[in-house]
Amino acid sequence: MKTEICAQRMLSRFRELSSIGQTDRGVCREAFSPAWKEAAQRLCRMMEEEGLAAHIDPVGNVYGRLSGACKDLPLVLLGSHLDTVTDGGLYDGAFGVAAALEVACAIKHSGQRMERDIEIVAFNAEEGGPLGGTFGSRAAAGNQATEGKEEALSACGLSAGAVRAAKLSRAPKCYLELHIEQGSQLFEAGERLGIVEGIVGIVRFELSVLGQANHAGTTPMQARRDALLGAARLIAFIHEKAAQKEAPFVATVGKLSVFPNAVNVIPGRVDMILEMRDMEPVSIEAFLHEVQQEAQAMQGFIVEFRPYGGKEGVRLSSAIADRAEKLCRAGGISFRRMYSGAGHDAMEMAKIAEAGLLFIPSRDGISHSREEFSSEEDMLLGAQLLLELALQSAQEP
Ligand SMILES: [Zn+2]
Repeated sequence: MKTEICAQRMLSRFRELSSIGQTDRGVCREAFSPAWKEAAQRLCRMMEEEGLAAHIDPVGNVYGRLSGACKDLPLVLLGSHLDTVTDGGLYDGAFGVAAALEVACAIKHSGQRMERDIEIVAFNAEEGGPLGGTFGSRAAAGNQATEGKEEALSACGLSAGAVRAAKLSRAPKCYLELHIEQGSQLFEAGERLGIVEGIVGIVRFELSVLGQANHAGTTPMQARRDALLGAARLIAFIHEKAAQKEAPFVATVGKLSVFPNAVNVIPGRVDMILEMRDMEPVSIEAFLHEVQQEAQAMQGFIVEFRPYGGKEGVRLSSAIADRAEKLCRAGGISFRRMYSGAGHDAMEMAKIAEAGLLFIPSRDGISHSREEFSSEEDMLLGAQLLLELALQSAQEP
């Protein structure tokens, strides 16, 4: 008989966990806040009620384990995060945690034999804070640097030792995460499941557009070298060129500093940050080259480019994606294989294990807002698929 999730049990636990920290502006369950602590402890109790071996690690990641037959085999890890942004939504993170917990419960109640342990995790501080995003999963993967971070760590009540102790003693066989899309692709296409193939990389450059500061009253229009005008032209070029590229490529200028930034002075200099995201570093490089050429061709301005950091893209397991696709096809579920423009705990786990990430639709693509919404039907469908993927992995010798 097919093992099935229990809709009522999952939804009621989801409602209980996700509403901790809810206000009329949205959910405030920021990492290390009293609301987050309450949620972590409540989750621990839910796990214990189900007979899972539960604990909270030294950085606030919550774990609960369901034992399989062979202790020696690497386990199957399932989860998401429990913290939210300030004034966030009910679904971001909490849905994936509630679904993972339900998967463990459904398997336990079904009495199905599993070769491997299944462990549920609710990572802490995915949304950032003093330690940056995906902190909990980075610590679990052993990739969280502690040097020079003493102040940020102590602001969260942590030490370098706590970070070291949070590292998983053994890499899992795989990590599976179910999350809301937080974008509008699935909702607009009327598709029910997103199978994520990778999380895009980010490259940022700081650009300085240099013109000539001058008197705003006495300098004729023809004689101006207005750096803000140069920056505006370059931004328009960036937008138009990026719009011609294939998804998931995006480019944004989201930060500008105008000098001297005075009402009666023609801007002499504009500093701005160009951010480009894509799966392929070469396509980002090619785009940057086009922007540089355009900048060079602009009359009357000098444009300087300086690297401003970024993040490498992460490919998730294609074997897990293929298995998810097969399950969708068999179940007549509409799906799309896609890339994520936002970071997730799965990208940290992908560095130590095979990782899979599934999305359900977000209504109107809205997230990090109290307007965030996903339907119960989609939540249940996603959870059922997560269960089937987890079971397959846990039954593999
Ligand atoms: Zn999230």
